Amino acid sequence: MKWGWTGPSVLDDARAPVRLAARAAWAVGCAAFALWITQAFSGALGGAYFFAVFPFIMIASLGAGTGAGLFAVALITVAFSRFFMYPTGSLARSDVVRLVGFAMSASLVAILGGALRAAYRRARRLRQDAETSTTAIHELQEAREDLFRALSHDMRTPLSTIQNQAELLLRAQDAPPADLARRAQSIRTSARRIAVMLDDLVEAFQLESGQLVLRRTHVDLAPFLGELKARLEGTLPVERLRVAVPPGANAVEADPDCLERIVVNLISNAFKYSPPDAPVVVASERANGSVVLSVTDRGPGIDPNEARHIFERFYRGLSARQADALGLGLGLYITRRLVEAHGGRIWVDSSDEGSTFHVALPAAAATASSAAP
Ligand code: ADP
Repeated sequence: MKWGWTGPSVLDDARAPVRLAARAAWAVGCAAFALWITQAFSGALGGAYFFAVFPFIMIASLGAGTGAGLFAVALITVAFSRFFMYPTGSLARSDVVRLVGFAMSASLVAILGGALRAAYRRARRLRQDAETSTTAIHELQEAREDLFRALSHDMRTPLSTIQNQAELLLRAQDAPPADLARRAQSIRTSARRIAVMLDDLVEAFQLESGQLVLRRTHVDLAPFLGELKARLEGTLPVERLRVAVPPGANAVEADPDCLERIVVNLISNAFKYSPPDAPVVVASERANGSVVLSVTDRGPGIDPNEARHIFERFYRGLSARQADALGLGLGLYITRRLVEAHGGRIWVDSSDEGSTFHVALPAAAATASSAAP
């Protein structure tokens, strides 16, 4: 149990019955202590012993609020009248006046304590809100800088290529057709790079603003990956792709569009960061109610210091920056967000012989039950 300067944390427990019981116990404890002190020192304090209880009433209401303070006042007033002052006889009129005077002034102390407590808590809440806002503003500033860098630096290169090649095309219209075709090809590649980057940017910001709606269905991985491979022909070097998922082996509960984005991101990276003729293998296996999809390449691997960051927004490894490889450092960030939206997990194993990215997704119901003994 933690303590603040207004009392133990159980006094503010989220469960109402626990909170009420704790506050009542706190008030009773303060009242009992106050009575014990007054009784012990009544001789020394003389007629002023009434006032010795005020600090305890203050403690009761500072810790547990005005209600608890007033409860302590009531307990002390009753105890004064019945047990200490007049254990046998009835109260004289002047004593009633004294008791009422005591109860009123003690109530004022309880109200003051409660108000102090409320003011303290409000100040603390405001401070926490201010800290949260500062963090949010800081994150927003970082995101803005990242976006600015992406737009100003990463997109500038393909844009200048388009501009240069178009100018050369205009100036050399009677150049050999092969030369013209090469320049047109270069313009097309650069335009595609920009389109991919813009898609990544839009998708990342859509994901962050919570606009992703998952339409989960039963996805059988073998036919899904086979069809995907056929569709990617001409866009990616799929002749390097080997799908090692036996038919009917594994099915997941996933949104097919998101799953496609996840797989395409991972295999694009595998192609991009490994030698041009090296194979890329997609495999899957079952593990504890999940299906783990893995994409293995024979690239240079990922430095452990970099591997810690590759799933962060706008993070690019040194090799990617040096090789000026296409991308904004959003692919794996988007992939992670999509995997997590499915309640899954993504991680990487890497050595200098290559990398394997693993994605664990919930197994489809039929798969989970067929996996059971
Ligand atoms: P991008 O490819 O646009 O740089 P990603 O988010 O897809 O961004 O990847 C982040 C970084 O992770 C890359 O810059 C690269 O350094 C590293 N990376 C990703 N996939 C691989 C891979 N298969 N092999 C080696 N490095 C990789």
